[in-house]
Amino acid sequence: MRLRNVPGADAYLTAHPLVIKNETRYRGSWKETFEHSENPIHIEIGMGKGKFILTLAKENPNINYIGIERYSSVLVRALEHLDNDEEYKDLTNIRFICMDAKELPNVFAVGELDKIYLNFSDPWPKARHAKRRLTSREYFERYDKILAFDGVVEFKTDNKELFEFSLEQVDLAGWILLAKTFDLHNDPTLSRGNVMTEYEEKFSGLGHPIHKLIAMRQ
Ligand code: SAM
Repeated sequence: MRLRNVPGADAYLTAHPLVIKNETRYRGSWKETFEHSENPIHIEIGMGKGKFILTLAKENPNINYIGIERYSSVLVRALEHLDNDEEYKDLTNIRFICMDAKELPNVFAVGELDKIYLNFSDPWPKARHAKRRLTSREYFERYDKILAFDGVVEFKTDNKELFEFSLEQVDLAGWILLAKTFDLHNDPTLSRGNVMTEYEEKFSGLGHPIHKLIAMRQ
């Protein structure tokens, strides 16, 4: 994701009612931040410009969504879609947090979430940065602390090295691999209902096969 300084981004986020500020305050009570508190919560970490999570929120009114993005300059783009696009305008089942995913266990309590989406996460190719990858064992340990017992992580990428690393990490973390494919768009089962992200559109357009795994904590 190319980052530009977007003038006014921080002020836009601060004023936006769907951007949750002081997020640690809601640890253990996230369900109550939604109109339908009985519904499960799914999050996307590193949501970028937000097409994926906005589409899911529109398609699944019975699920509550939280989009997490580290940079205000990126999150503001998703909010602009939400605010200006007729199809997203009336969504009541989505919230956003501008934060670094390494803080997740300080923001969510054990069992508070049912699903985590990771889409085209930064690869951090240098070995010494492996712990920063959102599919590293260290991150799976964080996800253990916030997901429900049978909660799942769904991960998509076009980066084969990162995908193979992630498969190893699922195993090392003691999670169960429920499904995997190295060619999502030609997989008759996993491609069903697939919602494309901005990066997925870009890289599949360049002819890159898309890889996907689904892992469950136990
Ligand atoms: N998911 C989008 C897609 O598929 O189009 C964007 C992919 S982009 C390569 C990765 C995004 O993850 C960037 O917007 C980046 O700022 C965000 N990100 C990376 N590490 C993060 C972290 N530790 N916490 C929160 N967001 C993060």
